[in-house]
Amino acid sequence: MSKLILNFKSKESKKIKNPKSFLGGKGANLSNMGRMGLPVPAGFTISTKVCDLFYKNKKKLNSKILAEIKKELKSIEKDTSKKFGDLKNPLLVSVRSGARVSMPGMMDTILNLGLNDKTVLALAKKTSNMRFAKDSYRRFIQMYSSVVIGIESYNFEELIENYKLTKGVLLDTDLEENDWDALIQDFKNVVRKKTKKDFPQNVFDQLNGAISAVFLSWESHRAKVYRKLNQIPSEWGTAVNVQSMVFGNMGNDSATGVVFTRNPSDGKKEIYGEYLINAQGEDVVAGTRTPHYITKKARLDSGSKKLSMEEAMPNVYKQLKKILVKLENYYKDMQDIEFTVENNKLWMLQTRSGKRTSKSAVKIAVDMVKEKLITKKQAILRIDPNSLETLLHPTLDEKSNIKIIAKGLPASPGAASGKVVFSSDEAERLNGMMQNTILVRVETSPEDIHGMHAAKGILTSRGGMTSHAAVVARGMGRPCVSGSSEIDIDYEKKVFRTPKIEVKEGDTVTIDGSTGRIILGEVPTVKPEMSGDFLKLMSWADEFRKLKIRTNSETPIDSKTARNFGAEGIGLCRTEHMFFDEDRILSVREMILSKTLEDRNKALAKLLPHQKNDFIKIFKIMNGLPVTVRLLDPPLHEFLPKNEKEIKDVSEVLGLPSSKIISRIGELHEHNPMLGHRGCRLGISFPEIYEMQCKAIFEALVECKKKKYKSIIPEIMIPLVSTEAEIEIMKSLVIRVADKVQKENKIKIDYLVGTMIELPRAALKAKHIAKHADFFSFGTNDLTQTTFGISRDDSGKFLNDYIENKIFEIDPFISIDDGVGDLIEIATTRGKKQNKKIKLGICGEHGGDPKSIHFCSKTGLDYVSCSPYRVPVARLAAAQAELKK
Ligand code: PEP
Ligand code: MG
Repeated sequence: MSKLILNFKSKESKKIKNPKSFLGGKGANLSNMGRMGLPVPAGFTISTKVCDLFYKNKKKLNSKILAEIKKELKSIEKDTSKKFGDLKNPLLVSVRSGARVSMPGMMDTILNLGLNDKTVLALAKKTSNMRFAKDSYRRFIQMYSSVVIGIESYNFEELIENYKLTKGVLLDTDLEENDWDALIQDFKNVVRKKTKKDFPQNVFDQLNGAISAVFLSWESHRAKVYRKLNQIPSEWGTAVNVQSMVFGNMGNDSATGVVFTRNPSDGKKEIYGEYLINAQGEDVVAGTRTPHYITKKARLDSGSKKLSMEEAMPNVYKQLKKILVKLENYYKDMQDIEFTVENNKLWMLQTRSGKRTSKSAVKIAVDMVKEKLITKKQAILRIDPNSLETLLHPTLDEKSNIKIIAKGLPASPGAASGKVVFSSDEAERLNGMMQNTILVRVETSPEDIHGMHAAKGILTSRGGMTSHAAVVARGMGRPCVSGSSEIDIDYEKKVFRTPKIEVKEGDTVTIDGSTGRIILGEVPTVKPEMSGDFLKLMSWADEFRKLKIRTNSETPIDSKTARNFGAEGIGLCRTEHMFFDEDRILSVREMILSKTLEDRNKALAKLLPHQKNDFIKIFKIMNGLPVTVRLLDPPLHEFLPKNEKEIKDVSEVLGLPSSKIISRIGELHEHNPMLGHRGCRLGISFPEIYEMQCKAIFEALVECKKKKYKSIIPEIMIPLVSTEAEIEIMKSLVIRVADKVQKENKIKIDYLVGTMIELPRAALKAKHIAKHADFFSFGTNDLTQTTFGISRDDSGKFLNDYIENKIFEIDPFISIDDGVGDLIEIATTRGKKQNKKIKLGICGEHGGDPKSIHFCSKTGLDYVSCSPYRVPVARLAAAQAELKK
């Protein structure tokens, strides 16, 4: 590709292989609309390649690029019959970022560029609208100063607010031409005072500054945070779109709006959006004025008296409606569109695939298959598996006492309770202390992204359904109630007031993002069912996937939940988790601290009935499906008594003085328990523990069989094996106990014995280990820990530095690292060579991570096992992995 800058109308863009990576999402779509013949203001895209060159050239645009930009400007001038910097008919442009994927509000935009002390007069004359021209100029100074020069916007906002106060008016629209004149002067004085320079008057300098600022915003703090949260690689860079301005603030026959082709909240097939008469795009998106509805129906449904666009501008609305259909049919996806009406003429400023809630994503995909717009395969590939988890999140229990204190717009569904905080930093601080918060802001801005992420829910008093808060919350899957004009926020006193009540920082509230309700106190929630479109999508995923999906579960309730979500068995039942219950922890401590076999057996005898009962319950729930039970794998320190009372309790049952117990705890102390006396090493030292567990499993099985639960096949899993001898010894222990139980009960039982592969040596020696194993289950939590030699418990402290320094693209405890992947591949190949029938699975946390699931599918594993709420995620990811093969 020789051309680095492309006109929207250029046919060349058709030849580009991956237009979004070169032109950015916005640029690629503008160029599509341009070629479709839709009314797009003339403009061009400066490609992401230039972003790369900009950073390589000490953050400067080189002369070749500057020349190309000038050439393209000429072409806009020709199309619009206007001239950049002209004193008769000046061309004004917008300069907007446009990364490969949309990053709402994260990067910079500058509008009305090309205005200076002289062109503003020309614009006024040309449009016969001095007020409009002055208003545009002051907006430009404010935006340019904030984005390019770095003078924070509040410096200007304050001036406007003070001015309005002195003049005794409420709204910006009440200000007249002379007022703006005075404010422009004040604005320029701020710039001079802060920078010791005048506001730039040369329009080419303005353009150069704006383009550079957009490129620089790619590396801004908020963009970096957003990229990290959304796993967007930093080397993608952004493109910049320069486009001739059209004005929605030219009077009452002008407007600007945002519209979705379907409802982004619930997926209904209806035009959904907002517009404002006599305004610029930023007014709608920034949430500074509450906009009106697009359709009459939406207006009537909401009870608003403000005319919808359908009523106020019927002809333009009809034209817009036709374009929406055209765009949706072209992209075969729900579109999020920005438009402007300038003196009754409609202009399309942007189209993109609309961000939507998970609920709406699923409904739209399923509906579009029904409408024959897309295939089942496309529907499956379109849904982000991670987003499904939010569909399973709880909703308010309507039977409980719900004390509504105010209402707002239902901007992002789901219910959340937490302590009220008024700043993002506070939300982040409390999140660090594991406290749930609801972030309450007048409106949010991109600076709030970390707080929105840290909070459980977001509540704003201003802004519509497409405000920053709404869009970002929907993208994050956070419940959000926006634009609640019934609440009045006082940041200084840290309270918000409703007509009924005052709520202080730290008070608990609940928000319901599906209905817009704001409720005092915590409201109980109920778990949703998987039904309707969601169920349909899952059944399509099952048609295509080959990987089986199991769950990690050790309680009846989790097992039931997972089975309802489609789990095909248990892939990991961590038996040590069954020991934490109050009625057994004492016996566990007794067992660990016993010095003699006799004492230990006494404690084990107390644990046996508990274990057996637990297994009976789980086996019944999983009847017909495999259940992998892992024998005890506790880093022992997790179970040791920690305080005086716990020590006293154990000393009483063991009949030993506390001092003896304390000294025994000292003997058991390990410097590095994760690499210590755990896993099968315990079974080697204290076989009686594993014997008790196997007895509990097999006796539970016998009991189930007697009660007609016939088809349960337990898979006994030995943890932390690294040598052939370990599995050999452990397997014979399992067989010994099984034989005994069979003999005693005169009943035949089927079971498998296998091992976890969670140490590099085990992976390398898989051939030898596989001689004794019916299955391998990759314990990628430990395998990651031991491959890197990075503690899974402590790594949080420094992994961020590794990600920031680009040593890791993603936390290796979240997505399988390729080095760890190599070990899995080696173990798979060597294991299969020895034992063709060996079953292969994964049960580390990676089993619920879509990227890792792709790896497992490629490597030829038989199943993945994940936590219950990840089961639908894994079902979909497994189907996608198959479809992408
Ligand atoms: C693992 O190590 O991946 C595993 C599943 O075991 P645990 O997390 O219990 O150590
Ligand atoms: Mg492990």
